[in-house]
Amino acid sequence: MRCPICGAREPREPEPPRPFCGARCKEIDLHRWLIGAYAVPGEPVELEPREQDP
Ligand SMILES: [Zn+2]
Repeated sequence: MRCPICGAREPREPEPPRPFCGARCKEIDLHRWLIGAYAVPGEPVELEPREQDP
């Protein structure tokens, strides 16, 4: 498993909302999706990609 948002290989929660490592990354993904709806679709958006490394 690898989180598509932060790239973490280990989940940060016991039961993370897959394919994310945690609810936080899921929200970030949602944010990106919403931002993409108003901006250029597919353009990468950097939103605190990672705050901790394994
Ligand atoms: Zn993550």
